[in-house]
Amino acid sequence: MCIFCQIVKGEIPANTIHENEDFLAFHDIYPKAPIHILIIPKVHVENFQQASPELMAKMTPFIQEVARLLELDQNGYRLITNNGPDGGQEVPHLHFHLLGGTRLNWPHMAEDAAKKAL
Ligand code: AMP
Repeated sequence: MCIFCQIVKGEIPANTIHENEDFLAFHDIYPKAPIHILIIPKVHVENFQQASPELMAKMTPFIQEVARLLELDQNGYRLITNNGPDGGQEVPHLHFHLLGGTRLNWPHMAEDAAKKAL
């Protein structure tokens, strides 16, 4: 059984901050930033690659609304979706990580590799 479907059904507790009939936003259980929210569709969609344009057309304004509610629209935020094994996706139910509340680091892998080679 999909863990995020269980959260949607209320079978597993979540620290929900916002929802409508189609989407749910709740705190990530292992936050990787001062603010770390997961945003999911209530319907089971495995990952971003499976997401329809119609779903994304509704999900985009919901994500923007969550960012506004948390006042992340002021200074900015990072929005990530991990897709499949190489993308590091652990939960096979489409979710966006909304991260913020600090100036986030952005590792420049090519630069780091070049430094190591010196
Ligand atoms: P991903 O690796 O992109 O699939 O991310 C899955 C995320 O779900 C991770 O950041 C986990 O910390 C988070 N997570 C897993 N189980 C729960 C849960 N029960 N409540 C909240 N967040 C969860």
